[in-house]
Amino acid sequence: MGLSLSARARGIAPSPTLSIDAKTKAMVSRGEQVINLSVGEPDFQTPPEASLAAVGAIAAGFTKYTAVAGIMELRRRIIRKLEQENGLRYEPDEILVSVGAKHSLFNIMLTLVDLGDEVIIPAPYWVTYPEQVRLAGGVPVILPTDESTGFKVTPGQLKEALGPKTKAVILNSPSNPTGAVYRRAELEALAEVLRPADCYVISDEIYEKLIYGVEHVSIASLDEEIFRKTLVVNGFSKAFSMTGWRLGYTAGPKDVIKAMTSLQSQSTSNPTSIAQKAGVVALDHFDPDVVEEFRARRDYVLERLRGMPYISCAEPEGAFYLFPNVSRLLGGRYRGQTIDTSDRLCELLLEEARVSLVPGSGFGAPNNIRLSYAVSRVDLEIAMERMEAFLGEVER
Ligand code: PMP
Repeated sequence: MGLSLSARARGIAPSPTLSIDAKTKAMVSRGEQVINLSVGEPDFQTPPEASLAAVGAIAAGFTKYTAVAGIMELRRRIIRKLEQENGLRYEPDEILVSVGAKHSLFNIMLTLVDLGDEVIIPAPYWVTYPEQVRLAGGVPVILPTDESTGFKVTPGQLKEALGPKTKAVILNSPSNPTGAVYRRAELEALAEVLRPADCYVISDEIYEKLIYGVEHVSIASLDEEIFRKTLVVNGFSKAFSMTGWRLGYTAGPKDVIKAMTSLQSQSTSNPTSIAQKAGVVALDHFDPDVVEEFRARRDYVLERLRGMPYISCAEPEGAFYLFPNVSRLLGGRYRGQTIDTSDRLCELLLEEARVSLVPGSGFGAPNNIRLSYAVSRVDLEIAMERMEAFLGEVER
């Protein structure tokens, strides 16, 4: 009884990306030239203006507790951003700044989900969603999608899944890991199903700025009814390359934000004071060149992948991932070794081709692998040569 971990802790699935990550790092530390395409963070710098604002904050002694929900200056700046860029209107008590968008989502789950409550999650999903739902005592209800619908959930699927136990539906557009972006009409169709449903919508929009030739639409902006039941989650990690600063936020109904703020007051308190000062300035310094660079990389890798045997790949419209389908490779052999799963494929690609990718199993998509193009073009070229050579030796 005494010296044991909680059932909650024992129930957490270790991140499926971790073993590949640990193996990659071990190989790199042995001096092996691995190209790491498993990374989930942009490879460019935090806007220097934002970094300088943080340095200024330290110099000025802005190094103490702040309001739990974040400094008013930042909340007001976020409100202006949401109004100008997303057509959403909030008051300061409808915004909670947290220690990264992952923390925002965790606060949401613990605030909304009771034991046995269901949270609907379209697959492929970001690995963290189902784990957080389970940690809160809830039950993730996974809706499978694939290339045939552009990895998007349909209104019919959603309608069928909604029930009396549904507490929330998670939408993530642009998506990690597929890069899928919901169009306005698609969101309208989902909203039609969601409007009469007695549940919240959690809209994770963290990749909104990394989008290629299409428009980002927040489902919360469709109408007042959807707005009132939606929690918009966003952050600074992806758009401003601020992964290490740990800064994210939620915008939503006052009562939910109030309860989340109480929860945060008893767990982390405020996000770091100096990171908040950096956040205020970062919102004025998004660099659109980043989008062009990512787009060029996406086009390059997509073309190379499509030229390789056994692989098919949908064109992602956002984020910085490709999610190729490798089902035709499964059952094949490489130098006497059987490729029975996408997990095994990723192991072999790492060990034999020295390219690190993440298997789709952790994202609820065992027929796919995730490739991040948040690395230099030179590295992408080398990685594509290596993958092509590897696939050239696969026997089917
Ligand atoms: N949502 C999605 C879909 C993500 O991919 C990530 C980061 N991998 C996050 C949220 C969390 O980002 P952060 O906690 O760094 O703000």
